Amino acid sequence: MTGHRGIRIAALVATACVVLTGCRDSPTATPTPDRTFPASTTPTQPSKPGARPTSTAPSTPSVRPGESHGVSLLPVVQHGPRDKRRIALTFDADLTALMRTRLQRGKVHSYYNEALINELRAMKVPATLFLTGMWMEQYPDRTRELAADPLFELGTHTYDHRGFTKHCYTLGTVPAAEMLTDVRRAIEILDKLDAHATRWFRFPGGCYDGTALHELAPAGVTAVGLDVPGADGFAKSPKPVIKQVLSHVQNGSIVVLHMHGGDNAPFTDEAIPEIVRTLRARGYTLVTVTQLMAG
Ligand SMILES: [Zn+2]
Repeated sequence: MTGHRGIRIAALVATACVVLTGCRDSPTATPTPDRTFPASTTPTQPSKPGARPTSTAPSTPSVRPGESHGVSLLPVVQHGPRDKRRIALTFDADLTALMRTRLQRGKVHSYYNEALINELRAMKVPATLFLTGMWMEQYPDRTRELAADPLFELGTHTYDHRGFTKHCYTLGTVPAAEMLTDVRRAIEILDKLDAHATRWFRFPGGCYDGTALHELAPAGVTAVGLDVPGADGFAKSPKPVIKQVLSHVQNGSIVVLHMHGGDNAPFTDEAIPEIVRTLRARGYTLVTVTQLMAG
């Protein structure tokens, strides 16, 4: 990519892929999430000293490592219990090298959607936020503020939002030998800023395969997938975001939206009030991923 247009297109595709259902399973994605996540695995948050206790979380949360044919795999959860009227809204904070360049050159004012966070606070909406390491380095004070707010829990989203399969759109690829280091890098940054950091993790673009699950098994995190992509990436108005979420949610849904705003997700803050009001009117309780998985 050499010109501004090239960068723009790459950024568009890279971030937009997060909101596409098909992005979850890249052409190289084997095995599928359902086959790699054993039914016996307890979908609760891995333990971490200092993790913020919640009223619904087990006192000693734990996850048994996933396993396939005797090989340890990173555990993955896609949704919570389908028999309870609860939904987890999650918000990813992407920051790629390209996005950071746009920020540094003044092409984008900010990749922190403060209006969105203000809406969540005003409506008292618990949420799980997945932050890239690069985003936390860009916004350490914001990360500390979010960490200190009991409404929110924080997880990680890799260091710089590269893909974990060979063909995760235009996100690039983290070499297998570097995957664990990359994920741990983001965890280390989060732990310095958040005494209550969770061990929830989200793959960029939702892309992963058996190699990634194997390489990341020692990371001590649980990958959180999605069953409702929020379609807020590069939305032209709040309406399609609202429609996408409200027409696809069900009991136990994990909804993926974005909190970096800017030109990448410009209407998430405008969409969220109607989404929240409607979900609550339908009788859903909005919870964090930890609460959703705690039973
Ligand atoms: Zn992302």
